[in-house]
Amino acid sequence: MEISNEIKIDLVKTRAKSFWSKVKHLDDEDACWTWQSYRSSDGYGHFTVGRYERNDRNTNIKVRAHQAAFILSFGYLPAVVRHLCDNPPCCNPKHLIAGNHASNVADRVSRNRSAIAEKNGRAKLSVEQVLYIKKNPEKSAEALARECGVTRRAISLIRSGKNWRSVS
Ligand SMILES: [Zn+2]
Repeated sequence: MEISNEIKIDLVKTRAKSFWSKVKHLDDEDACWTWQSYRSSDGYGHFTVGRYERNDRNTNIKVRAHQAAFILSFGYLPAVVRHLCDNPPCCNPKHLIAGNHASNVADRVSRNRSAIAEKNGRAKLSVEQVLYIKKNPEKSAEALARECGVTRRAISLIRSGKNWRSVS
């Protein structure tokens, strides 16, 4: 049994008080408001909004805490709820924005956490450094290697377009 978003949204809305009691509100309206209850290993908070029986066992219906905060603040659930603060357990609606998958990825790249680069073992260089290397063609590979703390070969692989082609 799959619980639809509509049902989850309704369940969240009826549990607003319970939800906000699990969020650490700071006097500072611009600070991160951290989820104080269950978090998964990726850092996102989970809010249990109900349960249903499956194969004679009770299964919790959960909504990610930042998504619940978005629902309670803006009344709907977009495909992706992004954190402007890059802090997964944060529930401050000022730090949340509706996005789609593409904008989420663009966000991550601009914040220097390119998943592609990490997967390929090229995380030694930051995106900013790669851009710097590409924008300084007059500098020698040796100088850039020294500045960025990598080998000359790493610089020439970028210059020849073999590595980091997607960054420009
Ligand atoms: Zn925040």
